[in-house]
Amino acid sequence: MAASLWLRGAASGLRYWSRRQRPAVASLAAVCSRSMASKTPVGFIGLGNMGNPMAKNLMKHGYPLIIYDVFPDACKEFQDAGEQVVSSPADVAEKADRIITMLPTSMNAVEVYSGANGILKKVKKGSLLIDSSTIDPAVSKELAKEVEKMGAVFMDAPVSGGVGAARSGNLTFMVGGAEEEFAAAQELLGCMGSNVVYCGGVGTGQAVKVCNNMLLAISMIGTAEAMNLGIRLGLDPKLLAKILNMSSGRCWSSDTYNPVPGVMDGVPSANNYQGGFGTALMAKDLGLAQDSATSTKSPIFLGSQAHQIYRVMCAKGYAKKDFSSVFQFLREEETF
Ligand code: NAD
Repeated sequence: MAASLWLRGAASGLRYWSRRQRPAVASLAAVCSRSMASKTPVGFIGLGNMGNPMAKNLMKHGYPLIIYDVFPDACKEFQDAGEQVVSSPADVAEKADRIITMLPTSMNAVEVYSGANGILKKVKKGSLLIDSSTIDPAVSKELAKEVEKMGAVFMDAPVSGGVGAARSGNLTFMVGGAEEEFAAAQELLGCMGSNVVYCGGVGTGQAVKVCNNMLLAISMIGTAEAMNLGIRLGLDPKLLAKILNMSSGRCWSSDTYNPVPGVMDGVPSANNYQGGFGTALMAKDLGLAQDSATSTKSPIFLGSQAHQIYRVMCAKGYAKKDFSSVFQFLREEETF
């Protein structure tokens, strides 16, 4: 722990780096971590669609892992690879003083931190706890207070980029917490992401994430509507996508994650909307946006509409499909 505290202090002037700026910062981290032997075990809780590839990237960077997931099958691959699997979040906290959590909802995060066998039951003083789940910013702040009472440090660091970026180590991390702890978080997050951005105090990472996902939901629905309309007008979907992507309608949903089967390879729409970012998770994030909009008295006409669309999709059997399945949902709808 002393080593990572030293590293935190040594590099605390580094607020943000991107892939382009990476060499200088990465080499500093490498020198520090080698000389201070900071590759002590890292705890990882929540090995789902995102947590699995994120944890694998930590392994690739030489970090031994202490693993826990409530669904034992999610741990098997890691056990087979020689990583240590334990039977509760408390056991993770007993064996690791740096822990990353990647869980579906606020409720799951509260359970993992404050539950009967939660991290806080056995957390060591000075531990660094990084929550990369997308949860309510208010819950992050509450967790941070509880963690602080135990003499440890909490940071929220939700991600953007999806499963593809998680696999390739190109996630964007939005980090909230004490600025002097940022460099210590960056050491680990830099193994999983190409952008690690300091946003401000605890909860600000979640605030950015909520805004991003509201915009993503709106742009995905817009892309799906435009593609569906074009197809019904008789256009070839590949040609339509190609022209949109060289025109002003271009966006991430059209050029990187197109929702129409057959337009792109390697995306959920090419695989019957399996994997990726579940519709239920998107509905959850839009609920967080709705709550935030209510508490700040912000008008979100399209965000609210997107929330209703994703909630209806969940009720109609799309909950576990990737959120780009809104295209399939629209295909099944016809109007007068
Ligand atoms: P997921 O459902 O695939 O994985 C979550 C994992 O957490 C599962 O393995 C589950 O068993 C485990 N889990 C749930 N409750 C637990 C508990 N109490 N203790 C231990 N483990 C528990 O979800 P995901 O797609 O990996 O998403 C995780 C988080 O990342 C969510 O908050 C999501 O909104 C966010 N996110 C997802 C994506 C994406 O593309 N999938 C992108 C950005 C952000």
